[in-house]
Amino acid sequence: MHINDAVFLEDLCPKFRFRQWRKSIHRFTGKSCIYCGKPSESIDHVLPRSRGGLSTTENCVPACLSCNGDKSDENALYWYRRQKFYDPRRAMAIRAWLEGDLRLAIRLLQWANPNFKVSNKNYKTDEKTYKAA
Ligand SMILES: [Zn+2]
Repeated sequence: MHINDAVFLEDLCPKFRFRQWRKSIHRFTGKSCIYCGKPSESIDHVLPRSRGGLSTTENCVPACLSCNGDKSDENALYWYRRQKFYDPRRAMAIRAWLEGDLRLAIRLLQWANPNFKVSNKNYKTDEKTYKAA
């Protein structure tokens, strides 16, 4: 868990902006964990802050508490490769996300998870936000 991260981020930006930013990150993946696809409950720093990772969109991905806590300060891609739910498409998505190519990342996630499709009635699209990013 990265309880300290939240404090750190709140110190940097006004609460409102921070909250909006968090929301937009979760929205990109339809509120699902980028690693395993379960509901995302937290934001994970792909490159841990302890190793110089920044609190930017490129370095912050939606993650469930289980993945976030289990990964801890490890390199996300190395950690992810060892997981039972490892999916090469998700690994590519994580890589694309890190490179700032959210469009590609989202496309790969959709490919990895058919339930994530726009046609799914549980998933609300937010094209405007998506394009703005
Ligand atoms: Zn997860």
